[in-house]
Amino acid sequence: MSDITELSNFINGEWRPANCDHWIEDYSPANGAHIASIPCSSSEDIDAAVEAALNAGEDWGYLSIAERAGWLEKIADALENRAEEVAQLESLDTGKPISLARSVDAARSVANFRFFAEQGREFESEIFEMSDATNRVVYKPVGVAGLITPWNLPLYLLSWKVAPALLMGNTVVAKPSEMTPMTASLLAEVIEDVGLPTGVFNLVHGNGRDAGAPLTSHPDVNLISFTGGTATGREVAKSASSGFKKLSLELGGKNATIIREDVDIENMMSSIVRASFLNQGQVCLCGSRILIHESIYDSFIEAFLEAVSNMVVGDPADEETELGALISAEHRDKVLSYIDLAEEEGGSILCGGGAPVGIPQAFEGGYWVSPTVIDGLAPDSRCSTEEIFGPVVTLHPFSDDEEAIEIANMTDYGLAGSIWTADVEAGSEMAEQIDSGMIWVNCWLHRDLRVPFGGVKNSGVGREGGRWSLGFFSEAINICVKH
Ligand code: NAD
Repeated sequence: MSDITELSNFINGEWRPANCDHWIEDYSPANGAHIASIPCSSSEDIDAAVEAALNAGEDWGYLSIAERAGWLEKIADALENRAEEVAQLESLDTGKPISLARSVDAARSVANFRFFAEQGREFESEIFEMSDATNRVVYKPVGVAGLITPWNLPLYLLSWKVAPALLMGNTVVAKPSEMTPMTASLLAEVIEDVGLPTGVFNLVHGNGRDAGAPLTSHPDVNLISFTGGTATGREVAKSASSGFKKLSLELGGKNATIIREDVDIENMMSSIVRASFLNQGQVCLCGSRILIHESIYDSFIEAFLEAVSNMVVGDPADEETELGALISAEHRDKVLSYIDLAEEEGGSILCGGGAPVGIPQAFEGGYWVSPTVIDGLAPDSRCSTEEIFGPVVTLHPFSDDEEAIEIANMTDYGLAGSIWTADVEAGSEMAEQIDSGMIWVNCWLHRDLRVPFGGVKNSGVGREGGRWSLGFFSEAINICVKH
């Protein structure tokens, strides 16, 4: 019997094969084994999914927000019952450690539905009184929402879009990454099991060119929420603009981790290592440039290298594993090419630089890069300013806060960053001068789902999260009634 899972599209409440007969193969990053096949969907499949979503829109939009919040709670409960399955599939499909898939991917996917259900229950539209009139703001659905997501946090990011889109009365066509399709299919199963009305949620598998692009240009899709790379985001923006679709772009990052001279290195170190390498450095928020005050540069490097060398790299299914495999052979090669470039640009590889030593034979076909630390690069070099999106960090000394801010801003990206200091006031002041959407002081990826999430410069357009998601996934209509 074959162990390869064949996934179908979920359109209008039915599991359907794609309109073409060729398949995209999905590989396990840990050992390179072929684990699943997904339909290589085309514009015909997108047309069918959009039509189903359009037809379902009227009834779904007619429900009250509290009723739709009730549906999100049902999805959250059903997803929670399958949380271990989500974690196992996510670990298999992405190569990430099972402990991370449990604590972050599975847990957060459920939390996203719960959080937006709660937001829906608390939702109140605004009233603005004038001396002679009353303004009442009404939030209407936008229509059919096209949701496109990447491979690094597959269900976590998909649920972050599906939940607010449904809550605000939109119907959905989701196109997950072709490299990590499994948990999107699981979500469709959950949605089918809870009995969400037919056509409200549709899932189309496939690649960007054949399935993603027709979704972004479809005349009946009114909103696109895209998370992925900056180059793809540019294509998506072009494609969506001619139809004036509502557009949110969550794109790449090259985030700075700033270590001030007053930092308590020992206490902060495990958090700084986590910010550098979580999910093999494949989190858009990871701090891939560490800027260190020159007075503590050498002592920081010594402590950092010791902590990095203690990380457990290996079998993603092992509970002790801290770092797994990279998503694909192509992505591994891209990361390795940046390490080669770093040497050409004058950098020194302090640790890592290739596959981990002693990886068991069973994983030799996988896509591995051990945590890599690079010193000696100019802060404006390509390796220090371009997104590598792997387990690679570059180290840079600075002499004062002004120089740290200048280096932090020396990239076209502006997504996130963190500042580590005993002086919280100075850290907060610095944070305001860094061109990025999110800055943490003495923490990293400490997420409150109510706050705005998004980037500036080439890291994106718009904000999601909390009321920003509710605003994006709806049309605010003002009704002014003269007394
Ligand atoms: P990607 O841009 O290659 O693909 C993302 C999604 O877009 C996939 O589903 C893909 O099939 C689809 N796609 C590709 N071409 C398309 C097109 N022309 N039209 C429509 N859809 C298309 O990104 P990736 O490699 O999957 O993900 C990694 C990137 O995502 C990194 O740059 C990372 O920083 C970024 N990311 C950003 C955030 C954020 O919140 N800012 C979060 C996670 C990942």
